Amino acid sequence: MTTELTSPQLAAREAELLASIPHQLLIGGRWTDADGQAAFDVRDPATGAVIATIADASPADGVHALDAAVAAQHAWAATAPRTRGEILRRTWELLQERTEEAALLMTLEMGKPLAEARGEVAYGGEFLRWFAEEAVRITGRFGTNPEGTGRMLVAQRPVGPCYFITPWNFPLAMATRKIAPALAAGCTAVIKPAELTPLTTLFLAGLLREAGLPDGVLNVVTTTQAGPVSDAILADPRLRKLSFTGSTPVGVKLLKSAADNVLRTSMELGGNAPFLVFEDADLDAAVDGAIAAKFRNIGQACTAANRFLVHESVADEFAQRLTARVTALRVGRGTESGVTIGPLIDGRAVAKVGALVDDAVAGGAELLTGGHVIDRPGTFFEPTVLTGVSVDSAIFRDEIFGPVVTIVPFSDEADAVTKANSTQYGLVSYAYTQDLRRGQRLIESLDTGMMGLNVGVVSNAAAPFGGVKHSGIGREGGAEGIHEYLETKYVLTPDPFQS
Ligand code: NAP
Repeated sequence: MTTELTSPQLAAREAELLASIPHQLLIGGRWTDADGQAAFDVRDPATGAVIATIADASPADGVHALDAAVAAQHAWAATAPRTRGEILRRTWELLQERTEEAALLMTLEMGKPLAEARGEVAYGGEFLRWFAEEAVRITGRFGTNPEGTGRMLVAQRPVGPCYFITPWNFPLAMATRKIAPALAAGCTAVIKPAELTPLTTLFLAGLLREAGLPDGVLNVVTTTQAGPVSDAILADPRLRKLSFTGSTPVGVKLLKSAADNVLRTSMELGGNAPFLVFEDADLDAAVDGAIAAKFRNIGQACTAANRFLVHESVADEFAQRLTARVTALRVGRGTESGVTIGPLIDGRAVAKVGALVDDAVAGGAELLTGGHVIDRPGTFFEPTVLTGVSVDSAIFRDEIFGPVVTIVPFSDEADAVTKANSTQYGLVSYAYTQDLRRGQRLIESLDTGMMGLNVGVVSNAAAPFGGVKHSGIGREGGAEGIHEYLETKYVLTPDPFQS
């Protein structure tokens, strides 16, 4: 097997890139050691090798980072919107110039294939460009009150200092989706990236500084103590907003802490997306969409199709065609050319996916391909297809977060919609049908914040991303995204023509 990994030139390039990434906390514009110089290791999930050792913030470090965000808040809010936008725009330009570095870094710390990492640089970067443009479009209203006795002014003001917690699965995009709208709105922030993938956030923070971001506007705390560090920041009365992307159980816990401090919150939580294939669907398009919706990011996306609901008349054919495509996927380290499936993020993820598959098989599901851990260094699981999955099985209820397709037949549209909506999650749904009226009915009957109708990927910086039910509160991206970081202020003045 030819692997770029073993080429000395590429290994040297990886080492050079890793050596160039800041390894400290960013507080008030200075790269700073953590309390007691504590540090932790970051590993490559494809090999298990340590690729960096970085600062491990304490709760006190977290509060110092908030001090810096609070100190910078007034001046940043008073900075011209055009200037705020231009810093974001410049960061986007720098990211374009350094696409290869950013992509390689994500592949090294998270495992996704390099081609997908480049895709994330494009997607994640778009939030910087989109909100650079939105910074100058924050408007208000002015009018006469109904009684005619006064003038009503409605303005949009920045919420104030924010705290961001991001997951490991999209290390760049989950950070830019919060940082860009907040900075555009005039808010300062502290960001805590996932312990497993902190390097991309440090890289991004370096770009923002290079683009001219003033000291303290963005502060980065990397830590192994997510709970204690977050508790200290969330309890501080100077904080005004929490934006979290991650699992629903952690989101619920954070919402409770945020309630004590009456914080504005944006919660982007877990998913359990249904992928519906009707008897009138274009099956080739549905199989293409299924591969994209399931296997992007090695199945580790909140938008990943989790339950394939297929009309009973085409279920076998769909399963057969999809299985042929799945067996052709190439597993390996994301830096190797031609690889389409990298490792899962860690051993816990492999154990969880394996247990869900074993449980489904014990419950009567049939394995069409895959189903096992791959015996090689790193944390790899075979791309898998299961049919005849019971709707009562854990794999149907839980977010799989791995490269596993579960196929469940349905009898008619009402049965499909009932099965699709039978979950506490409501992030995204996908449906394949060539019947326009059925498509219109599904738009209204599927309980999700987003929907792909005859497409398998919906994410776009220009679109409002977010879920309903236990999938979250609020929207990121689109014209809506900046409003998560703005407060409405109403002012009444007397009629200037009356004495
Ligand atoms: P997670 O375990 O909830 O972790 C997410 C973040 O929360 C990490 O930074 C983590 O820090 C931190 N965290 C964990 N426990 C915490 C606590 N007690 N207090 C404060 N912070 C805490 O989720 P994950 O495994 O990283 O990510 C996968 C989940 O994210 C999936 O459920 C996926 O659906 C969801 N997700 C949702 C969206 C969306 O837009 N809706 C997008 C991407 C992912 P450590 O890393 O240090 O543990």
